[in-house]
Amino acid sequence: MSENRDVLVVSPALPHQMELLAQEYTLHRYDKSDDRDALIASVAESVRLVMTTAGVGVSVELMDKLPNLEVITSFGVGYDSIDIAACTKRGIRVTNTPDVLNDDVADTAIMLMLATLRRLVVGDQWARSGNWSKNGAMPLTTTLHGKKVGIVGLGRIGKAIASRAEPFGVGLGYFGRSQQDDVPYPYFDDLLKLAGWADVLVLACPGGEATRNLIDMNVLRALGPTGYVVNIARGTVVDEPALITALRDGIIAGAGLDVFHNEPHMNPSFADFENVVIYPHHASGTVETRNAMGQLVVDNLVAFFAGKPLITPVN
Ligand code: NAP
Repeated sequence: MSENRDVLVVSPALPHQMELLAQEYTLHRYDKSDDRDALIASVAESVRLVMTTAGVGVSVELMDKLPNLEVITSFGVGYDSIDIAACTKRGIRVTNTPDVLNDDVADTAIMLMLATLRRLVVGDQWARSGNWSKNGAMPLTTTLHGKKVGIVGLGRIGKAIASRAEPFGVGLGYFGRSQQDDVPYPYFDDLLKLAGWADVLVLACPGGEATRNLIDMNVLRALGPTGYVVNIARGTVVDEPALITALRDGIIAGAGLDVFHNEPHMNPSFADFENVVIYPHHASGTVETRNAMGQLVVDNLVAFFAGKPLITPVN
């Protein structure tokens, strides 16, 4: 096995982590390169590890140019931007950053749920604009207490959302590909049935082809005019034109959204809706969690070059 420590940086971890890595490893900064083709031509043979992030991923085309690639480390838990099947076929291992972001992402789901039902942004604007002093109280909102919360994808993050939602006095149910034995919440084997039951549909499943447009107009109609969508999963899980129509025409009551199609170029229609609370894909965006995610990337990288088992392998 080659002894080189060559890393192609397609998308980096945090700056201080990259500075430390640069002292021990040869970092080829594809992310900063003005001539990426020339960079690849000069380092393709030596690169054994690619660093990337969930939002950027790695194309199969780029992987194909790296004959000695052994590992891809990705900053983020979702890996829908990496073709895992193609990696496995070539024997390329992929690592992600699970668990360390559960708390902040679940907190964000609860934050969006409350902000949407209680119209936090409308209320903030009501006070700031002078409407409060001119016209008195803002219109009444709706309580979270007593609502039925349906979680689509009861995994690590979904469970963290459920345990946070419980103390608000909500009913909980979930949909996934299979029923889980170790959870007390009712399982719905049919997404339409969960949407028909729920007041708030929280999306916490992976993105990618298997879940593309899972939340379509049929699901939104089943959720109904008093129902809400909260999405911290991936924009692709929702048929976005259908969601925009549903929000505009009162087919559902509102949405709290952290993720969108074509980020960061969010469909501007969302900005027109008072019944939407927007967060710019920042559910894990705290200093503490991003540090922990970056550290896990570093730890996987160090383990690989030390010939030790990867810490959080995906395949
Ligand atoms: P996880 O532990 O793997 O949980 C995923 C859950 O989704 C599982 O319960 C799984 O259950 C379900 N699922 C998988 N495929 C499904 C399908 N085709 N239809 C319905 N349900 C399906 O993953 P996690 O760590 O909780 O992360 C979940 C996702 O959250 C990530 O993949 C990522 O896209 C997203 N995320 C977003 C942010 C953000 O910043 N907004 C941050 C972190 C993560 P079954 O296997 O039984 O179907």
